[in-house]
Amino acid sequence: MKNYNEKLVTYLRSINKKVTLEREEILNAVIKVATYADLKHFNAKDIYNQIKLIKSPLSIATVYRTLPMFAEAGIIAEIAKRKGKMIYELIRKEKHHDHLICCSCGKVTEFYNAEIEALQKKISKELEFDIIEHSHSIKGICKDCKK
Ligand SMILES: [Zn+2]
Ligand SMILES: [Zn+2]
Repeated sequence: MKNYNEKLVTYLRSINKKVTLEREEILNAVIKVATYADLKHFNAKDIYNQIKLIKSPLSIATVYRTLPMFAEAGIIAEIAKRKGKMIYELIRKEKHHDHLICCSCGKVTEFYNAEIEALQKKISKELEFDIIEHSHSIKGICKDCKK
C-alpha cells in the first residue's frame, strides 16, 4: 500500500505533477478492487463502481484519464483491450504470468509456461534486443462459453 503511494509520488514528481486527493482516492480504489480475488483483473468501470461506494464526486472520465498514468508509474499493468476497454492488474512481487482472455465473457485466466518464457528470451537474444518487460495475452473463447 505504502509502496504504491511512493511509486505514485515519485512518478508524478518526475513529470512535475502533484498528488491530488482525486489521484489518491483512485489509487485506494484500485488497491481495494485488486485485492478482491475475482477482480484481480479490472477495468475503469470496476474502479468507478468502487469509488461510487464511498459517494465520491469523482467522474468516470477522471478514472479513465488516471489509470494510464498509474500504468506509466508502474503501479498497474495493461493486460489487453476487450471491447475497446483496457484490462489492468495491480503489479505485485509475485511470479510473472501471462493471460488468456475470453472475448465472450471477459474471463481472464493466468498461465505460466517456462518454454514460452525461454523462447521469448532466445528470440530477443538472437535479435540483440534487451527485454525490459513483456506481456503475453491470448484472446479467444473459454471452456465455459463453448458449451
Ligand atoms: Zn468465456
Ligand atoms: Zn494476471
